[in-house]
Amino acid sequence: MKVLVLNCGSSSIKYQFIDTETSVSLAKGMVERIGMSSAVLTHQPYEKEKIKIVGEILDHSIAIEYVIAVLLSKNHGVIKDKNEIDAVGHRIVHGGETFSDSALITPQVMEALKDNIELAPLHNPSNIKGIQAAKEHLPDIPQVGVFDTAFHIKMPPHAYLYGIPYELYKKYKIRRYGFHGTSHRYVSQRAALMLGKPLEELKIITAHLGNGCSMAAIDHGKSIDTTMGFTPLEGLLMGTRSGDMDPSVILYIMAKEGLSLSEANTLLNKHSGLIGISGESSDMREIEEAVQEGNKKAKYAFDLFTYRIKKYVGAFTAAMGGVDALVFTGGIGENSVMVRHDVCSNMDFLGIKLDEEANHNVVNECFISTADSKVKILRIPTNEELVIALDTKQIVSELQKQKEAASF
Ligand code: ADP
Repeated sequence: MKVLVLNCGSSSIKYQFIDTETSVSLAKGMVERIGMSSAVLTHQPYEKEKIKIVGEILDHSIAIEYVIAVLLSKNHGVIKDKNEIDAVGHRIVHGGETFSDSALITPQVMEALKDNIELAPLHNPSNIKGIQAAKEHLPDIPQVGVFDTAFHIKMPPHAYLYGIPYELYKKYKIRRYGFHGTSHRYVSQRAALMLGKPLEELKIITAHLGNGCSMAAIDHGKSIDTTMGFTPLEGLLMGTRSGDMDPSVILYIMAKEGLSLSEANTLLNKHSGLIGISGESSDMREIEEAVQEGNKKAKYAFDLFTYRIKKYVGAFTAAMGGVDALVFTGGIGENSVMVRHDVCSNMDFLGIKLDEEANHNVVNECFISTADSKVKILRIPTNEELVIALDTKQIVSELQKQKEAASF
């Protein structure tokens, strides 16, 4: 089955066209600056040159039209007919408490997505626009939603409730949801394969470290806790987000600096984290360079970043009553020798021993722990688009079977 995977943001759409039989991404690309006269579409067919098209793309519907056109294009396309797109899989940020699994998009599902807009006002409206646009241009093709929150939604109440009046949870659905679920699910499944054991017998800590960062405690295949919460702001220090802090701090800053709600939101989400502390960059590569040049604030930012991860490794080990594997993924987790080194240093007491040479020479999916490390340390590149494509295939195949059975 060939699945068009879409990740629709407010002014951008990332896409991949994946053959689920081979797991090969036949083409991938991105439309940026949607809404502007100088929007840009970058498109890369498998093992071919990347191309760039600049034009006026005023909304998501036109953007999807462009994506379909480039997939069909004579010189850069990968299909000859629209019918070769068997299904569309959407990355959806927030599934609220409604979705614990990926779901076929139906009118009821669309209603539920709209109900969850308040929980993700920046993301869910764009996801909805993307679904509507895809429906407009591919009306007869099934669409599936894959939710960032779904993997974590069955965490136990002691992990998802906040210490605020319970009525506020009931009234406004204020609870911890967690994000990056597709990535945590994928790398934990890959880790089980690498360890040669069923996921149901393992205790795994996954660290997805990209621009956004989160960790998950995956006990017997289920996420029992994660670092992000009601929004992606909680937990680890990130490129531009603060992560955990005493909630009083923000009230204090708002009073002192006379900040509005929206300014406070921007401060915590866009001007904090690595960029906020270092004043240099939100990009880990640049932070590492600055650390090596002796920049003190960059060092504070770097140390805070790795210290939090280390603390959560301890916390999640306690939460699961042990740990078999620690997995690094995401742009930083996959590539930063320094971050993995610092996180794993002085962790012998927990049975975590990094093999320094292996840590320097990572390729694809690999082990980076010493032979005698009780806890295996793994580096696994994430592939959220593939998970979306495979979930979509599974749901659509099931649907086809049901239709065939009904027509007998
Ligand atoms: P996103 O969360 O937007 O998908 P990525 O997963 O691509 O982002 O992660 C981006 C982060 O990965 C940036 O902070 C970048 O500096 C970091 N990164 C990428 N390559 C390296 C590297 N070789 N060493 C350290 N950090 C890296």
